[in-house]
Amino acid sequence: NNFPGDESGDLRPRQTPGVLYSKVVPTPVEKVTLLGWSEELAEDLGMEKPETQPETDVLGGNAVAENMQPYAACYAGHQFGNWAGQLGDGRAITLGEWVAPNGKTFELQLKGAGPTPYSRRADGRAVLRSSVREFLMSEAMHYLGVPTTRAVSLVSTGEPVLRDMFYNGNPQYEPGAIVMRVAPSFLRFGNFEMLAARKEHDNLRKLAEWTIARYYPDLQGEDKILPWFKEVVERTATMVVEWLRVGFVHGVMNTDNMSILGLTIDYGPFSFLDDYDPNFTPNTTDLPGRRYAFGQQASIAYWNLGCLASAIAPLLPGTEELVAELEKYGEIFLEKYYAMMVNKLGLDEMKAEDATLIAQFEETLSDLKPDMTIFYQLLINLPLDLKEDGAITEHFMESLYDELNKTETEKLGKLIGAYNDRIKTNAIAREASQAKMRQANPRFILRNYLLHQAIEGLTAGDNTLFNKLQEALKDPYSNKADEFFAKRPDWAGQKAGCSMLSCSS
Ligand code: AMP
Ligand code: MG
Ligand code: MG
Repeated sequence: NNFPGDESGDLRPRQTPGVLYSKVVPTPVEKVTLLGWSEELAEDLGMEKPETQPETDVLGGNAVAENMQPYAACYAGHQFGNWAGQLGDGRAITLGEWVAPNGKTFELQLKGAGPTPYSRRADGRAVLRSSVREFLMSEAMHYLGVPTTRAVSLVSTGEPVLRDMFYNGNPQYEPGAIVMRVAPSFLRFGNFEMLAARKEHDNLRKLAEWTIARYYPDLQGEDKILPWFKEVVERTATMVVEWLRVGFVHGVMNTDNMSILGLTIDYGPFSFLDDYDPNFTPNTTDLPGRRYAFGQQASIAYWNLGCLASAIAPLLPGTEELVAELEKYGEIFLEKYYAMMVNKLGLDEMKAEDATLIAQFEETLSDLKPDMTIFYQLLINLPLDLKEDGAITEHFMESLYDELNKTETEKLGKLIGAYNDRIKTNAIAREASQAKMRQANPRFILRNYLLHQAIEGLTAGDNTLFNKLQEALKDPYSNKADEFFAKRPDWAGQKAGCSMLSCSS
């Protein structure tokens, strides 16, 4: 504890200058009931599933163990491109650090455990809907191989939560829930932006040095700030490339939602793509700007890294080298992106001409808007002798939401023709190419409508689908969960209210 923490435990919303976190205690709820438990994660953490009510109570903040020192972190951020000032953990409370049997340490956070000094005018609570989404989705991303924070438990609180959604002029209540989420650290770009904005350069340096020593122990040398930034650029680029690989749209890439460890953090109005649409944003708050649409994510990550660079600039003698590192992002991103696409398409290596083919895939898919996941699954088993446009369209039929017109049919034929020609030049066997594709292209994704149905089930006391999805997400590259291998049904279209969500839930 090197920083002047706020010792008061005062939960009233306030500005906290000079402070990196405030001590808080979770506000007890009516009744903590375990709804979800991540068995494998718990095992890795060396955590036993709670059996008794007093044990379960810890997961809902009704009991705080003696060795826990709960706090809420103070951070700021740029929201939708604008400086938002102090934000902080408004509904997440860190209970402390957990040491796993393998010696690794993890921050344990309760999300929805009640107000903190950073709750501003909100209630510090989370609804079952958003908690189920974060619980399942962060685990799904882990099993997909995407860098992410995780979630070990989901409990209901037995308390209704008022949300500012008005239906027939009446306030809407939803069941409350709390997720225990887990990560080496939940530090964000915004923690650094906060201190820079307040010109607390001593604290800024302490936090940066502490972050480096603790989470970037491999960085060597006298001045570690620059190499650290370089590494954050790398990790952030990797994260976004992984999102693009699996079709993930984060939905709120504000700088307070950007992990300093390059993890996917703060699951809110996210979605997987069903139909391939680079302009798709799942966030109603993001309309009509579509700043956080699927296809914008690579450049928003760069914009956010620019904010981080500005924040840490006072720690360096000059800005020239820092700017140079930031400007390398485009190149780093592209290299990672192409390497990923090589795997997705089953190519042996990235040849200069392949950039054209990859662009052709993006363009054709954006035009035809097939189901991204199903399209790539069908691509794996493409018969290489398919030549005729009609036969090609037939092969991809299962992935199409709309019937193709003549131009579109030709477009698809052209793409697949070019692809077949390229695959024939592969220096690896077809089987090896297909094996690569099977590892890069998920067959099961946690579609928004499935989450929506699982939540409806849970709300009605039926956990059948929830349990099925929790099982399915553990093996997303296999065909084990093929009962879910289908396009988004018509009733769940974008306007049906289960693919669009708002920020705060
Ligand atoms: P988000 O858009 O989810 O990243 O949230 C932005 C900020 O609002 C963060 O500081 C959150 O902690 C805060 N926040 C969101 N929902 C709530 C809530 N229900 N109660 C208190 N703070 C909240
Ligand atoms: Mg957030
Ligand atoms: Mg959030």
